[in-house]
Amino acid sequence: MQMSDITLIGAGPLGLTTALALQRRGHQCVQLVDARPGPGVQRDARSLALSHGSRELLELLDAWPIDAATPITRIRVTQAEGCGETWLDATELALPALGYVVSAEALEAALWARAQAAGLDVRWQQRIIRLQAEGSHVRVHGAGGADFTARLAVRCEGRIESTEADRRHDYAQVALICHATPATPHAGLAHERFTPQGPIALLPEGEGYAVVWTVPSTRAEALLAAPDNEWLATLNAALPTDVKLTALRGRAHYPLTMSLRERPVAARQVWLGNAAQTLHPVAGQGFNLALRDAWQLAEQLTDAPDPGTAALLARYARSRSLDRQTTASFTDLLVRGFGSQLPLASPLRDIGLRGLQALPPLRRFLARRMIWGARAWP
Ligand SMILES: Cc1cc2nc3c(=O)[nH]c(=O)nc-3n(C[C@H](O)[C@H](O)[C@H](O)COP(=O)(O)OP(=O)(O)OC[C@H]3O[C@@H](n4cnc5c(N)ncnc54)[C@H](O)[C@@H]3O)c2cc1C
Repeated sequence: MQMSDITLIGAGPLGLTTALALQRRGHQCVQLVDARPGPGVQRDARSLALSHGSRELLELLDAWPIDAATPITRIRVTQAEGCGETWLDATELALPALGYVVSAEALEAALWARAQAAGLDVRWQQRIIRLQAEGSHVRVHGAGGADFTARLAVRCEGRIESTEADRRHDYAQVALICHATPATPHAGLAHERFTPQGPIALLPEGEGYAVVWTVPSTRAEALLAAPDNEWLATLNAALPTDVKLTALRGRAHYPLTMSLRERPVAARQVWLGNAAQTLHPVAGQGFNLALRDAWQLAEQLTDAPDPGTAALLARYARSRSLDRQTTASFTDLLVRGFGSQLPLASPLRDIGLRGLQALPPLRRFLARRMIWGARAWP
């Protein structure tokens, strides 16, 4: 049996970030276990929009992939069924960028380099099948008979089993992702386009765009089978008329659900990020919120001799409640509100977009909320 103070299950980007943040806060006896054969073995095709706040946290861990990050300086929000629009601009917040686009692979590579430099103990090829809290510790059972014992198990498994979610909604949508070449340079401008079929995000990455294109599941199969030129034509038809993509590559797809654990803690266990709440990618909040979970946990456990006590875990759960609930509800509202086909929904959305554009303080508040989470509340 192997003993540590804290065992993290999942050595993806979140597990690595959490381990580094815990180490920074005085916890040296930290171990990670992961079912994968090793780092970077399974390709993650996603590109992530990380907020300026997430950059600040990763910089503190010396794990910000600066050379792989493309700044988002402006965001244009439009809908297909009207001409109202809202622009968010980093200069209004006196920031160099609202956020950055980084491939999931570059992020993991930067974190893995830091993990190695910090001497983190990572055990690969260990699929965890069961956890059992026993008084002052928790036993973590692996599929091959390996046993790990810790005072606290931190679960960064990247998903919630459907039977374990307290709130769950299947959007019956699929996210189609790819990289696309724009007809004109993007100049740091990101697009969020709401269409009756689902939202589309164009995120500046390098010279091109990382595309997250949401479509109903019923339509996904035909699009997945279609050749690139058909994808491109269908995608271009859904974008604003002054935006055109000329080529694409690297197609992949992800089914979309929202799942939430109301209480992300149990005896000697805590769930973080996607293992605590899995969100629709419409607002690009999933990993940003996960980083705030990780950071807060490390802060709350600073130098704690026993990091798994019920009092500490309850305090952590309370401190994360507002940010988790509001981010999950806001994301869900965006998907449902902008997807609604009720008779007055479209004109109301248009009024909303125009109203937001006309009210700079509200716009700035919204941008700050997406950058720093609940810390942005007055
Ligand atoms: C299409 C799409 C676009 C997105 N865009 C954005 C965005 O722009 N911005 C943003 O902030 N977020 C975004 N997200 C969310 C973001 O991708 C995720 O939050 C993030 O990738 C999850 O990282 P993770 O480390 O939590 O999970 P993962 O990368 O899934 O890592 C989980 C790890 O746990 C391991 N594991 C799982 N189960 C076990 C087990 N039983 N035993 C041992 N190991 C186990 C796995 O092997 C894996 O290595 C998007 C999501 C989607 C679907």
